[in-house]
Amino acid sequence: MDLALAHPEYGYYRTRDPLGRKGDFTTAPEISQMFGELLGLWAVDMWQKLGSPRAFNLIEFGPGRGTLMADAVRAAKLVPAFGEAINIFFLETSPTLCAEQKRRVPEASWIDTIETLPIGPCLILANEFFDALPIKQFQKTDLGWQERCVALQSSADDDPPVFAYVLSETVTNPLLLAANVRHAPEGAIAEICPLAQTIMEQLRRHFDANPGAALIIDYGYAHSTAGDSFQALKNHKYIDPLAEPGEADLTAHIDFEALARPFDTDTCYGPVEQGPFLKALGIQARASALSANANEHQRDDIASALKRLTDPGAMGSLFKVIAVTSPDTPAPAGF
Ligand code: SAH
Repeated sequence: MDLALAHPEYGYYRTRDPLGRKGDFTTAPEISQMFGELLGLWAVDMWQKLGSPRAFNLIEFGPGRGTLMADAVRAAKLVPAFGEAINIFFLETSPTLCAEQKRRVPEASWIDTIETLPIGPCLILANEFFDALPIKQFQKTDLGWQERCVALQSSADDDPPVFAYVLSETVTNPLLLAANVRHAPEGAIAEICPLAQTIMEQLRRHFDANPGAALIIDYGYAHSTAGDSFQALKNHKYIDPLAEPGEADLTAHIDFEALARPFDTDTCYGPVEQGPFLKALGIQARASALSANANEHQRDDIASALKRLTDPGAMGSLFKVIAVTSPDTPAPAGF
C-alpha cells in the first residue's frame, strides 16, 4: 500500500491530481465551499479559546488541492486579527498537489515530516488524510493472528504472475490489536495503521510543549472493530485493490478509537458524525445565506451539497470527526 501510493516515481499520489470529477474521488471541500468556510470559523473560535495568540501556526495535513485552506482562510479573515496572526503550513508529499496548493494559497509554507512541526501555538486540520496512510492487515487462523501480505503468484507455469494475498508464516503478537478485536473468531481480519499511531503520538508530544488543537475528519469506525476495509477507487468506481497498483486510490477505514488512544479523555472530543458536527457549526445557516444571493441553478447545487455533506445516507454518518487538544485547553466547537 505504501509503495503503490508513495513510490517516488510510480506512486499514485506522486504522479497525478486524483481529485474531482476527472480524477478518482471527490472530497468534502471539493463538493462545497461551505465545508472549508465552517472549518475556518471553527479555527477562529479555537484561536480565541487559546487566548488569541498574535502569531500561531495553521497547519493542514494532506491538503489536496488547497481548496479547504483557501475557503477556511477567506472565511476566517472576517476576523482581521486572526488573518494577521496566522502562518500557514502544509504537510504534503505530492509535487502535483503542492503546485495546486501554491496556486490557491500562495502564502503557505511546506513541511516534509511530522517530526518538523513548527514551534508555537497551532491549529491542525486533516480531512481525508489518515485514510491514505498504509495499513497492515492480519487474519485470525488456528495458529493465531497471521499478517496478510501481498506476493506475486502464478496460477499455472505459463501464466504471468499476479498479486495475491498470502499469510505470513509467523504469528503476530496479539497485543498489537485492540482487546475486543483480538478475540474475534477464526477467519476475521484486523487492521492497524502504524503511521497514523506514530503521527498521533507525535501530536500528543507536540501539544505538551505547544498549545493547540487538531481537527480530524475521515470515514471509519467509532470503535476498534474487526473487518476488511481495504479498498481501491478508480474513476469513482471500486476495483480490486491489487489489480492496478499506482493507478488507483487505496484507502482503509479509520479506527477513531485507536487514533485517540495517546490522548487523555479530557484532551479528546468525539468522534461525532460529520452531519451533526457541520450542523452544530451552522452549515444550514450558511447554506441559506449563500442561497439568498444565488440563481435557481446555484440554489439546487447548494441544496444538493448540503445534503451530500450532512445526510446519513451520504457522507453525514460514515464520516466522523474528532478533536484532540493540548492539556488544559477549552473544548472545541461542534462536540
Ligand atoms: N484533504 C484533501 C485531500 C485528501 S486526499 C481534501 O479533503 O480534498 C489525501 C491527501 O493526503 C493528498 O493531498 C495526498 O497527497 C496527501 N498524502 C497522502 N499520504 C501522505 C503522506 N504520507 N504525507 C503527507 N501527505 C500525504
